[in-house]
Amino acid sequence: MRLSQSFIPTMRQDPGEAEVISHRLMLRAGMIRKVATGIYSYLPLGLRVIRKIETIVREEMNRVGAQELLLPILSPAELWKETDRWDFYGKELVRLQDRHDRDFCLGPTHEEVITDLFRREVRSYRQLPLTLYQIQTKFRDEIRPRFGLMRSREFIMKDAYSFDRDEAGAQQNYQRMYDAYCRIFSRTGLQFRPVEADTGLIGGISSHEFMVLANTGEELIVFDPDSPYAANVERAEVVPPPAQEPSELKPLEKVSTPNAKSVEDLCALLNIEASRVVKTLFYQTAEDTITGVLIRGDHQANEIKIQRFLGLHDLTLASPELVAKITTAPVGFVGPVGLSHVRILADNAIAALTDFIVGGNEPDVHLLNVNATRDFAVHDWGDFRQAQAGDPSPRTGNPLQTARGIEVGHIFLLGTKYSEKMGATFLDAGGDSHPVIMGCYGIGIGRIAAAAIEQNHDEKGICWPMPIAPYQAQILPVTSSEAVRLASEQLYDELCQHNIEVLLDDRNERGGVKFNDADMIGTPYHIIIGDKGLARNTLEIKDRKTGEKVLLPPDQVTAWIKNAVTQELVRSKRKEKE
Ligand code: ATP
Ligand code: MG
Repeated sequence: MRLSQSFIPTMRQDPGEAEVISHRLMLRAGMIRKVATGIYSYLPLGLRVIRKIETIVREEMNRVGAQELLLPILSPAELWKETDRWDFYGKELVRLQDRHDRDFCLGPTHEEVITDLFRREVRSYRQLPLTLYQIQTKFRDEIRPRFGLMRSREFIMKDAYSFDRDEAGAQQNYQRMYDAYCRIFSRTGLQFRPVEADTGLIGGISSHEFMVLANTGEELIVFDPDSPYAANVERAEVVPPPAQEPSELKPLEKVSTPNAKSVEDLCALLNIEASRVVKTLFYQTAEDTITGVLIRGDHQANEIKIQRFLGLHDLTLASPELVAKITTAPVGFVGPVGLSHVRILADNAIAALTDFIVGGNEPDVHLLNVNATRDFAVHDWGDFRQAQAGDPSPRTGNPLQTARGIEVGHIFLLGTKYSEKMGATFLDAGGDSHPVIMGCYGIGIGRIAAAAIEQNHDEKGICWPMPIAPYQAQILPVTSSEAVRLASEQLYDELCQHNIEVLLDDRNERGGVKFNDADMIGTPYHIIIGDKGLARNTLEIKDRKTGEKVLLPPDQVTAWIKNAVTQELVRSKRKEKE
């Protein structure tokens, strides 16, 4: 491709709207442009990257026997009502009506549509196992679309669905997909880590997320440096502390704590550690009903765990007015003592605490030397807090560490959640009917591109891993003589003939501008052609990532590039097997 004829609108200035480096560089390199919040156009350079990622995904899906199809983006409300997700999905689901006032939505995921296809078409165990996938535009009206393609409202996803006769087959399919995902992320040049995950809105039995480790990641994971254990903090189990030896308990005491509404204020006032304080959080669990959750002062409540324990679809903190109405205590001074009419859940960590501090249910009052059971009843104990660095690993007991990650893929073993609700069954060899066992597997194609930039850039721009680079080599004629022009044209023809994806910067621009654009676009190899070099019969090849330079006679350049590109592609495929 000749740059003079291409549509690659690079930007000299930093776009103000971009918070993370990948978003900034995609805009500056002319890969994407915003149309509306969370909605982007893929420009030619961006689309080339997307297509390369899709090709790798396709190859690996086909390799494990998944078959590609394409489902519609628009799906009828009736299907979503069968699984209750028409209501459950909430505002993320974009709903619309056709001219006959029939309800539809833009697919945020396709379990309903594929399960409907299955129940109409598949009858017998002989047609199983079956795995189908598509690469398609999804729409989710995210609360906080941000970071460009990382969290957009319209995005491209690969979603696959497996159908099996039995649990063992489904597990096998899940493992095959897990392995395919590892190959895909290795091949796209990402450093990643599979982690145990929560099943969220999709639901099901077990689930893994594939996290690209990056400081800008929105997800927090805990991992055990000495075992493969890693989990999203949303899901990470917290091992209950060992049981305490019974000890003499001090008598309950009231203490005046004027204006000490937060744990920090209280600790400063009483000169104590936050780990001695127990906070009481109230969630509204029905109309005019609240549930109290006790969490140690230095721990974070995990609302996903609490919500799952309570069997609720969503969880909201009770308003201060509702709390005041039911407990008669002002915000910042509520506690479990004397609240026998409110259901109280306590995190396991509280069981190891004695003589702790809670709100006194009166303005400016806390209680000292409080003890669970003696001073108030706990209705349910459980794991209600977020895991944090230093917690013991559930596998080895060693202290866990934390890291930030970008979720690029997510796989779920669904079981019969959808097939039972939608009547997707098959007949076994004896003629008995069973609900089919399903799995579903998603990958964010645009998010991979963004994550790859987060991991592969420097202050000058993107450093693409070869397998997803939009072009493999870029020719930079840096002086404007006829000899340079001819040498550039000749090399361009040769590289094209050898199927190297090459950009020729034939614009009438200064060398500095060409260097800057080539660095920003991130083409892995730059071939610099100038009069001085030609006079010595050499061209310079620069490796974008390492900055290493090689000088070669012009007639050896094509073979060198061809060899280097091939080797890098082969190496990326070899890595997938590690
Ligand atoms: P997240 O927690 O980031 O919202 P999710 O759990 O909702 O993700 P899934 O439903 O598992 O995501 O979707 C499968 C994949 O699609 C994700 O792993 C991610 O790579 C991608 N994806 C999900 N939401 C978005 C989005 N808003 N923009 C871009 N990619 C997305
Ligand atoms: Mg989501």
